[in-house]
Amino acid sequence: MYFEVSDKYRQATDEQLREIVYQAKKKMGDRLLILAHHYQRLEVADVADFVGDSYDLSLKASQHKEAEYIVFCGVHFMAESAEILSADLQKVYLPNPLAGCPMADMADLDDVMMAWKTLQDIGVADNTIPLSYMNSAAALKAFCGRQRGLICTSSNAQAAFKYVYDKVDKLFFFPDEHLGYNTGRWFGIPDNEIVVWDFRQEEGGIDLESLKKARLILWKGHCHVHTNFKASQIADLKAKHPDAKVVVHPECEWEVVKNADAVGSTKFIVNYIEEQPAGTMIAVGTEINLINRMAHQFPDKKIFELSGMKCPVCANMYRTTMADLANTVESLGSFDRIVVPSAIKAEAGLALKRMLEVH
Ligand code: SF4
Repeated sequence: MYFEVSDKYRQATDEQLREIVYQAKKKMGDRLLILAHHYQRLEVADVADFVGDSYDLSLKASQHKEAEYIVFCGVHFMAESAEILSADLQKVYLPNPLAGCPMADMADLDDVMMAWKTLQDIGVADNTIPLSYMNSAAALKAFCGRQRGLICTSSNAQAAFKYVYDKVDKLFFFPDEHLGYNTGRWFGIPDNEIVVWDFRQEEGGIDLESLKKARLILWKGHCHVHTNFKASQIADLKAKHPDAKVVVHPECEWEVVKNADAVGSTKFIVNYIEEQPAGTMIAVGTEINLINRMAHQFPDKKIFELSGMKCPVCANMYRTTMADLANTVESLGSFDRIVVPSAIKAEAGLALKRMLEVH
């Protein structure tokens, strides 16, 4: 897809872009709602009406029915989820249409359907409920809606697991292997009851007997930002600074999660940092834009990213610039909005509403 903002915005100063956004907000009042994910650039997060994780922001999108225009500064699946939860007359926009999520792209509808057919063929699908991480396409959310399933974010994954296991013996989770594995372990599922479906391999690379016995079927997807962090980085840090605190996101690998002082969603990480006393050294295992914002907000604490390589950038979250946002708010009538076909919207909406209920 080709996407370019005009020179008017590309050549404008930061101050001018900020002013364009403020003027649009002033003119439109409650009719315009700007949402920004925690991983957005500092200047974008600064002008948003709400900054939050994907759970918080979907809640805002579902609550603010007075907003005719919802501008979602995040990645595609987030804007899609806002569109699914919004009322019919509301319009949702993604300021940079190229902002996708590589992890969400690892679960393709056809591949997931193939795995589900295998579960049907071996006679276990009736005893299985699919649970999709928020980071997935609308068509996959609709599949969950059809099959008694739901959606979760990193902040309600454990509650969503409970929702499923209260009803059936097996849970099919996609696309993040690590969030699924970590939640399964916290939930007490032993390793010999967990299998990972590798969509690149014939029949997921799992023998059918193991698939029949498994209570948790995971998808071989991951976030390249959070898999940057390693347990050895925690060990090195603790050797030099035994008092340092380590907080990480549950999309990190199990060994990292297991050795961290605290683990939780983006919102949890923000709260954890806020609660630490002044002077605390805090190594954070998540996206760099959030870490930089926290360091800026709490200069009395020493906040830095865990790997020490300053590399955990989500290039897709970083795509949205102030120029994109200014362009969007000034051209709402002509800018392509996010549209989810009504049949998909209805079924995906069911799965998302279940998510909002189990939080
Ligand atoms: S941080 Fe990872 S999971 Fe989140 S949008 Fe970026 S690639 Fe996707």
